[in-house]
Amino acid sequence: MTEYPMKEIFEKKYSLLVTDVLADGKVVDIFIDDTGIIAGIGEEERKKHKAEAEFIIDGDGAIALPGLVNTHTHAAMTLLRGYADDMILQDWLTQKIWPLEAHLTGNDVFLGTRLACMEMIRSGTTAFNDMYFFMEEAARAVDQSGIRAVLSYGFIDLFTEEKREKECKATENLSAYIRRMDNPRIKAAAGPHAIYTVSGEGLQWCAEFARDQKIGIHIHLSETEGEVNDCIARYGKRPGAVLDECGILTPRTIAAHCCWLDEAECTLLGNRGVHVSHNPASNMKLATNRAMPCHWLSAAGANICLGTDGCASNNNLDMFEESKIAALLQKFYWNDPTLLPAEEALRMATVNGAKALGFGTGKLMSGAAADIILVTTHSACSTPLHHASSNLVYSCNGGAVETTICDGRVLMLEREIPGEAEILECAAAAARDLVCRVQSS
Ligand SMILES: [Zn+2]
Repeated sequence: MTEYPMKEIFEKKYSLLVTDVLADGKVVDIFIDDTGIIAGIGEEERKKHKAEAEFIIDGDGAIALPGLVNTHTHAAMTLLRGYADDMILQDWLTQKIWPLEAHLTGNDVFLGTRLACMEMIRSGTTAFNDMYFFMEEAARAVDQSGIRAVLSYGFIDLFTEEKREKECKATENLSAYIRRMDNPRIKAAAGPHAIYTVSGEGLQWCAEFARDQKIGIHIHLSETEGEVNDCIARYGKRPGAVLDECGILTPRTIAAHCCWLDEAECTLLGNRGVHVSHNPASNMKLATNRAMPCHWLSAAGANICLGTDGCASNNNLDMFEESKIAALLQKFYWNDPTLLPAEEALRMATVNGAKALGFGTGKLMSGAAADIILVTTHSACSTPLHHASSNLVYSCNGGAVETTICDGRVLMLEREIPGEAEILECAAAAARDLVCRVQSS
């Protein structure tokens, strides 16, 4: 343990020297300037910057990684963690999740998102892609937390014009709100929920709005076989073709789940430059009965990333666990142990995710944003360390993360996160209140 004149280090960005960390197989030091950029990484940084660094963090041999990127979640659903499990998807939604969500307030979303951000910081995630309601409140929580997010309002018009107008307004309001926040860590996206909840007109409106505003699109795609069949019954074609006609498939689009894509749809997504978010834990828990065809998507040149989905269907936001589950599910479902090796799973959680969200490079390199996590090498999960990527994906989980830095600011140091107890207490109280309101309604 290092003795720090602590607390102060959490307050703002400082110039930081992180010494003695393992990056790409070498022991190096990392120098971060006070604007939040990695100004140097290598064996000579200690000599060059020791005098000028405002704080020195002793890495103690930890593995340094770029912060992980969660490309599909509903952060405030942390409040629903463990509320209803082990049910059929449709029953789970209609009997448990939707009735509870009907009672959610803006303050619930603020407190739930704050809990989610804290959980992500603790498990090494520094950026996420979120879709939910009361997103202005989510934006406030992200702003306070110090991590990055792309936020979209879940646009659900249920094929009526009246509802569509409201959803357009909510999408416009969120985009304007985030523009006014003027925080480079927070971006808006359009969030047409899915093909079975949004009309063709609604999808087209979202595509045009995103293009005009130069923002991303976040959508659920082909999670279940039922929604593919319903789409064919409604439109006479598969979801990929319908979304393409509506202008939804773009290089700014992130499509979550994608379990039931056929090979031609994978080619289409690859050609359109769509980013796909694999959510294996949620898919297994809700028994979608098919794994995203990563090998077809990858052959088609699609950028494949990783996401946890919301905490009601996972039930945590640990991207280390998610990378392991992804690697295992691909091997098991497609019956080939060579599919999705550890290095590739790590790339999905870092470089590919950063590319999808447009947050930097997702690499530790000079000139990159300092989104850095340190993973201990003094634990059973990292001993011995034959291949770091193997330990990281198959042995360790988010509990092995000791320090998290985002945009050059220290958010967790040697497992300490300032204000953690209050965040936990408020979220637990809000979740209890929410359930009481549902029961007394
Ligand atoms: Zn989702």
